[in-house]
Amino acid sequence: MLEIRELSFPGFERVVEAIDQTTGLHAFIAIHNTVLGPAMGGTRVYPYRKPEEALEDVLRLAKGMTYKSAVVENGLGGGKSVIIANPKTQKTEKLLLSFGEAVNAFNGSYIVAEDVGTSTEDMIVIRKSTPYVAALPTEKSSGDPSRFTAWGVYRGMQAVAMKLWNNPSLRGKLIAVQGIGHVGSRLTNLLFWDGAELILTDLDKDKVHDLALKDGAKEIHPDKYIDVECDILAPCALGGILNKDSIPRLRCKAVAGAANNQLLTEEDGQRLMDRGILYAPDYIINSGGIINASAEFELGGYNPKKSRDKVNKIYDTLMEVFEKSKKEGKPTNLIADELAEYKLKHGIGKRKTPIRF
Ligand code: NAD
Repeated sequence: MLEIRELSFPGFERVVEAIDQTTGLHAFIAIHNTVLGPAMGGTRVYPYRKPEEALEDVLRLAKGMTYKSAVVENGLGGGKSVIIANPKTQKTEKLLLSFGEAVNAFNGSYIVAEDVGTSTEDMIVIRKSTPYVAALPTEKSSGDPSRFTAWGVYRGMQAVAMKLWNNPSLRGKLIAVQGIGHVGSRLTNLLFWDGAELILTDLDKDKVHDLALKDGAKEIHPDKYIDVECDILAPCALGGILNKDSIPRLRCKAVAGAANNQLLTEEDGQRLMDRGILYAPDYIINSGGIINASAEFELGGYNPKKSRDKVNKIYDTLMEVFEKSKKEGKPTNLIADELAEYKLKHGIGKRKTPIRF
């Protein structure tokens, strides 16, 4: 039996805990803001050690989705869901189906997509119990968002290169990628062909070894990542990597990667600025995936070429953020937040026609 418990958190529209003892489901779904449209955000399956950790993660991720969608003006709000489970051993069909039932409790104000620990195949399963699913691998849908996310991060790195070296080329730049999963592996491929020098790390040693061999990259142990000397550090695994302990150790000129919530706290943006490290705000540089997934709700249907052209604009948005940060002497993360909050306040990009599922 599925049990839905309502929780209350200031600044959030709705947060629920969903438990189904028969399927082993223990999930949290958070809707942060639907001022601009229904909330969309991926479903993360992760073996959190405690429910409190999962709750903290879902709240931070849901807020990030509000800001990400506001900046790209896709007519969507911010939400996210997490399932406490090991994606390799506990992600059963039954569990995903009961999660889909929990999503129905939101009547379409929360739309599911893939995230860490879920795949497009999982979306097909969830779709059996709820219609509120995006990024399915079907003809009408947008499919796996990762290649768009990777392309957006690559374009964002070009903006970083332009800002730091007055040339968008990444040829010869030393780039350290943490996490070579859906996004990191595609990003690595783009960087290889652009002539970058690569340093790779992942918890999966075999995966790193194979890719490093293929691309002539250097492989390092995950524990050595923060201290690695490079031009650009590209975190493409989990969040919280930039904090008061790690920032003093960094030996890079910029941070530009796909991971969500890279800064542990807002103050970490100032810490990076004080060290002269250029930070590409995560929810701008990694917005390629949401740009592509939300494109399936556009009038006239999904068109990958339109998505690509929109993702290319990440370069311009970041250049604007970097310039404003320099002019106002404020960290880039705060400039990004101001941009998102302005759009939310003035309803810029608000959805005009409802989504039909
Ligand atoms: P993924 O699960 O496919 O890949 C993550 C990889 O990171 C895995 O290979 C994992 O082994 C590795 N990893 C985890 N912890 C690590 C550590 N401590 N050190 C080294 N490697 C580690 O996930 P993904 O879809 O590629 O997403 C990566 C990040 O980008 C996540 O933070 C996600 O929220 C964010 N993101 C993804 C998309 C997308 O389109 N998939 C869009 C926006 C943001």
